[in-house]
Amino acid sequence: MPLDVAYSIDADDFVDPDRAYDLYWSGVITNKRAFVCPAADCSAQVTCANLDKDVQNMRVVPHFKVYGAHSEACCIASGDPVDLEIEPAEMDGHERRTVDQSIVDVFKLERPASYYDEHSVEPGADVHVAKKRARSTRPYTQKLGESGIVGPIYSVRSVVSRYIRYRSDETLEFRRLNIAGQDVPYASIFKCIWEQDLDDLPDHPIIYYGWAYVDRTKANNGYRIKFKKNFKRGEDGLITSCFVSDAFIENYKLKNLMAVRLSKIAEKDKPTAFVFLYGQPAIRTSNERDYANFDLKNLDMIDVNYDCPLPSRYDK
Ligand SMILES: [Zn+2]
Repeated sequence: MPLDVAYSIDADDFVDPDRAYDLYWSGVITNKRAFVCPAADCSAQVTCANLDKDVQNMRVVPHFKVYGAHSEACCIASGDPVDLEIEPAEMDGHERRTVDQSIVDVFKLERPASYYDEHSVEPGADVHVAKKRARSTRPYTQKLGESGIVGPIYSVRSVVSRYIRYRSDETLEFRRLNIAGQDVPYASIFKCIWEQDLDDLPDHPIIYYGWAYVDRTKANNGYRIKFKKNFKRGEDGLITSCFVSDAFIENYKLKNLMAVRLSKIAEKDKPTAFVFLYGQPAIRTSNERDYANFDLKNLDMIDVNYDCPLPSRYDK
């Protein structure tokens, strides 16, 4: 049985695979096997597969696997819901997820300041005790949605990751994503950049995607990500791009992930990437020429991939 959540010994907290991945790449989690079963009376060992991969696609998505034996009392092994909910009340103010709403993921555009807090268990400490303490000191509610315990999503990469996971567990049609207060079906949240007229685009930010060239900027202070296809305005094609400065990367908690991916891609003979970003294009004029540009709010709003992580119908 797959686990939606596990207790991380490195982070001393209950995490889902997306958060485990973020904490690994920000350096809080260092061992991909340092997880245990989240149930109260069980410490079956758990590993988070693909945690250390800087790639994700239909085959390589971070997920938990139990490699130890569950205790006899373990409610997960017996198929009962766990009495734990991953939604931290504190992070989310008054929003509490109930079981019947648990298939709506909430995409938040800013991480709470406490997201990367390090707690960590002292070496040699009793995992049962630490887990119990985490359960009582972290502001989790005591209820649980059995069909996927979900915390809010804070990055476009996690949206892609959840999409892949829901496709493979065949729950995609029941899943919705809440962006800026609006629920939309998962299947409809991605829009390809493909010669659309700027006037026909939604007047609010959405997740755009497409193949792009990744180059260092002329001033050598960052990367230029130029989509292969342009947006149009009437008959004119407008070069469509976005810039990621080195300073922006340096200030990003997951800079290792972002720096590794961008530099590997920029060094390729054919420096192309499959890019997702959350935003809304704006027109910029330079040397009397108009361009369509995306300004990123933060680096969680862009996901740069070596290849198309989604099924082939997206791969264009
Ligand atoms: Zn267990």
